[in-house]
Amino acid sequence: MTEATKFYFVGNKLGIDFANTKIAVNGKQIELLEQFSDLAAWALSAGLISAEEADESLGNWKESGQSILGHALNFRAVIHEMIVGLASGASVDDEALDSINDQLKLNNGNTEIVRSETGFEKVHRADYRDPEQILTAVAESVADLLAYGDLSLIRKCENPECVLYFYDTTKNHKRRWCSMAACGNRAKARAFYQRSKQTKDVAGQV
Ligand SMILES: [Zn+2]
Repeated sequence: MTEATKFYFVGNKLGIDFANTKIAVNGKQIELLEQFSDLAAWALSAGLISAEEADESLGNWKESGQSILGHALNFRAVIHEMIVGLASGASVDDEALDSINDQLKLNNGNTEIVRSETGFEKVHRADYRDPEQILTAVAESVADLLAYGDLSLIRKCENPECVLYFYDTTKNHKRRWCSMAACGNRAKARAFYQRSKQTKDVAGQV
């Protein structure tokens, strides 16, 4: 059974969540995509494939899994660098666009119109038994972000030790943390400690 619990889905965009698969804990970088099974687990967590499909693709791609993973990590490096740049107001270079376009070309899916609660919805159907399609879904997400997103809403978590990014969809656009539980509460506790320490120091001088 594919493990599917260690990943972060705080980015609000699939492409950013994919970039967030290399994390830092206590200043130490941690690679969450160590082997091909991790990539399948990520796709499962992201809702791209079902548990059966994840197990099936692990069986089918045993031989070439390592090279697919290598390709995925290269693509992630491009996306990650682009997200980091966008979060600090930099532009996107042509090499990044070429990489995204190369991945989009491998798309074997089709668009479908389906009924939704409010009317109709356009959805993309891909055969995720071809693991390349996982990266194509990421590329689609990044392409949508560049074409239709507000790039000024791409931010890094304010915890200096955290390396996670997100697309701020809050109403007042004041989101500061990857998640309140992971980084927000810690920062609050630190601020509280600093304040009470200052109060004590001042009190000590009197
Ligand atoms: Zn964080």
